[in-house]
Amino acid sequence: MAYNEQIISTDVLIIGGGIAGAFAAIKAREQGDVDVLVLEQGVAGFQGRASYGTNIMRCVLPEDDIDYAVWGSTLQTDFMLDQEYARDCIEESPKIINDILEMGGDFDRGWDGKIKWMKMVTDVAGFYQRQAIWSPFGSYKHVNHFVAKAKADGAKFRDRTLVTELLTDEESG
Ligand SMILES: Cc1cc2nc3c(=O)[nH]c(=O)nc-3n(C[C@H](O)[C@H](O)[C@H](O)COP(=O)(O)OP(=O)(O)OC[C@H]3O[C@@H](n4cnc5c(N)ncnc54)[C@H](O)[C@@H]3O)c2cc1C
Repeated sequence: MAYNEQIISTDVLIIGGGIAGAFAAIKAREQGDVDVLVLEQGVAGFQGRASYGTNIMRCVLPEDDIDYAVWGSTLQTDFMLDQEYARDCIEESPKIINDILEMGGDFDRGWDGKIKWMKMVTDVAGFYQRQAIWSPFGSYKHVNHFVAKAKADGAKFRDRTLVTELLTDEESG
């Protein structure tokens, strides 16, 4: 089978054009004049779990009890969680919410215009967690929005490109 070989250079290579890939592309472009290339096996913005799994956003705000959140998350995952990593993610969650808002994402808001935070009891471990509902609910539009922003910010996307193997400089040179 013949392949058309193409050599493309980039400063930052991101594999997967889902919500994480789009965030990474936006953040990388914020660093200055760097080439950012996102490779997506399907069509970026319409693929992946985020295109139907962007429903509820869990968050722990500074006024919440972080130990309780780590404990609840640990119970919920049958102790399979790396607790240090979970703590880092939980501590970073208010910043992530700010990033999402700055990038044009949004959540359900109350009559006062503030994000409608709900304290939900989880069905697995029965602990309380703070969460908001993405607006619009459960839609590919969020991923699509962040991909469009990454493109507008100058990141390049290449669809229908499945990464099967990565060559490092040492291996190829
Ligand atoms: C049914 C369901 C409901 C969910 N509900 C929620 C929720 O309410 N709240 C919440 O926070 N999370 C929820 N999640 C989890 C959430 O959707 C994921 O954590 C999130 O989408 C992960 O984002 P991602 O960008 O890492 O992955 P994805 O959105 O899956 O994106 C990964 C992308 O990489 C591409 N890709 C993969 N391998 C390659 C390769 N080798 N080469 C090229 N491209 C590749 C894929 O095609 C895809 O587009 C839910 C998940 C599911 C399945």
